[in-house]
Amino acid sequence: MVCNFSLSHYQECLVLAKSQRIEIVHDVDFPPNNVLQIAEMEHALGYRTKYFIRLHAKLYNALSEEHLAIFKLLAERYGHELGLHFEPFFYQNGDMQAAIRQEALLLEKVLGQPISYMSIHSPLKAGGIDARVVLPGMRYYCHDSEYYKGKKYLSDSGGRWREGCVCGHLGKHEQILLLTHPNWWYRETPSENY
Ligand SMILES: [Zn+2]
Ligand SMILES: [Zn+2]
Repeated sequence: MVCNFSLSHYQECLVLAKSQRIEIVHDVDFPPNNVLQIAEMEHALGYRTKYFIRLHAKLYNALSEEHLAIFKLLAERYGHELGLHFEPFFYQNGDMQAAIRQEALLLEKVLGQPISYMSIHSPLKAGGIDARVVLPGMRYYCHDSEYYKGKKYLSDSGGRWREGCVCGHLGKHEQILLLTHPNWWYRETPSENY
């Protein structure tokens, strides 16, 4: 087994992780070219994961017909959950909680799915939020979240595992919270999605 960001290795990791307590979330930073393939793989192996959608991405429009259709399928066909990948940068000095509420409501309206989860895009680079502004009833996914306490957090941010590929961690932690960015994962060549 070779560790890389190929979808076939992702599938191997999913199979190996079946005996591990693991929660998987995805930040959709770039156009959702391969998310349906990932979603299908997860669904076939009995995983229910979360996909966090951006409203301020430079390279995709979550509200376009094409991308809305993809995001709806994640929930309707594969049973995954949808969340808001929030960018606080756009609301500096504004009412952050009102902005989160507005964006979540907009996504709920266009997707016809509840948005009860949120994560932050590039919190270390672009700034995060005070966790107290997260809406009541909404679960906050970020490295500084209370929810992450007691869980082993692994992320492929920047196309790099800081502590080695997830497969090397399986069976070594009581609970893993895995964040992946679908754009790093490829069918044929590493740069096909970004
Ligand atoms: Zn690996
Ligand atoms: Zn992001």
